[in-house]
Amino acid sequence: MHLLPAWIWIAWFFLLGAVIGSFLNVVIYRVPRRMSIAWPPSHCPACKEKIRWYDNVPIVSWLLLRGRCRHCKAPISPRYPLVEALCGVLFALAAAAVMRFWP
Ligand SMILES: [Zn+2]
Repeated sequence: MHLLPAWIWIAWFFLLGAVIGSFLNVVIYRVPRRMSIAWPPSHCPACKEKIRWYDNVPIVSWLLLRGRCRHCKAPISPRYPLVEALCGVLFALAAAAVMRFWP
């Protein structure tokens, strides 16, 4: 842990948290609808088009697509990047606390 600067660990845990937040978005959307969380792969609920990996990068893709589906331009809820960012921040704070970097 001490071979790398603390900020690299904190950034890493932010990214890990954002990826887990992305998975939680799948759970949040599908479980109440009694859908499988594994199948089908990520797709637009409006046009059913499969979401490519580069359109599925936590936070970044939503910003680049300006909150709209690449294919049909249907709006994508800001809840997705917010859940991803919140999870990322919580993971980063937990990592910082474990490393006694903060508080
Ligand atoms: Zn679409």
